[in-house]
Amino acid sequence: MIERRSGDEMLRLTLMDGQVRVMMCDTTQMCQRAADIHHATPVCTAAMGRLMTATAFLGVMMKGENESVTVTVKGGGPMGTLVAVANHGDLKVCADDPQVELPLREDGKLDVGGAIGRDGRMSVVKDLGLREPYIGQSELVSGEMGIDFAQYFTVSEQQPSLVSVGVLTNGDVVLKAGGLLIQPLPGCSDDIIDQLELRSPMFANISREMTFAPKEELLEDWFRGMDPVLLERTPLRYHCGCSRMRMEKALISLGRKELQQLIDEDQGAELGCHFCHGQYAFTTQDLKDLFERASRA
Ligand SMILES: [Zn+2]
Repeated sequence: MIERRSGDEMLRLTLMDGQVRVMMCDTTQMCQRAADIHHATPVCTAAMGRLMTATAFLGVMMKGENESVTVTVKGGGPMGTLVAVANHGDLKVCADDPQVELPLREDGKLDVGGAIGRDGRMSVVKDLGLREPYIGQSELVSGEMGIDFAQYFTVSEQQPSLVSVGVLTNGDVVLKAGGLLIQPLPGCSDDIIDQLELRSPMFANISREMTFAPKEELLEDWFRGMDPVLLERTPLRYHCGCSRMRMEKALISLGRKELQQLIDEDQGAELGCHFCHGQYAFTTQDLKDLFERASRA
């Protein structure tokens, strides 16, 4: 029996003696944090939450200390561009317009695909600490995120995958959010793949399922008879990691000409972080010091 734990975390498991990789996560708290930071409407909370949850799979799969992954989704919908970043279990997200409101779909669900749009693509940039990052791209299928990430894994990483992500909200409150990733590994038998497909309706509405039972119990239930073995648990959290030093670097990277222009305007500069809305103010004297540093660089 898998030990029950609450709070945001990612569980990594195998089925059938390593023939299948499974990841399941609870992302309720981080989705609530995203909703609060961005004053997001329910449909935008669901959109950003689903994107962040799926990005968490990619983040937890990366092994190196300073590796990170950035997923950018441009679907042509009213939310504009969405960006999620994972540094292992540290996640953050932003969108051009997180206050979009849309009517519910005919089936009563939030219209996430409508808010994100489905006419475009998602790109995945993995910074592996090497000179050249890994960049993968795929076309969006529905803008609902689950199927779009499944498409990305299958097309761009040649790894067939089933992805289910969900965010259940009641007004401003995120009741439950989480996700499930299933990847049959090379050599997995057709019997097992058939079994997984047969069971897939059970985890289609994942956030609702997670309100009924602890995730560990759901895993045991869904994969009964398939020998689920827990390999690893990773805590997840919403964490930005921006700092004044990083903002200084961003200003320096503008170059001397741009900096000189800011100094001449003599109004200082105020930089805001898109992910946490942290504000960083620089006086004209600060900018002059940065100009000095830019000249030395
Ligand atoms: Zn920040």
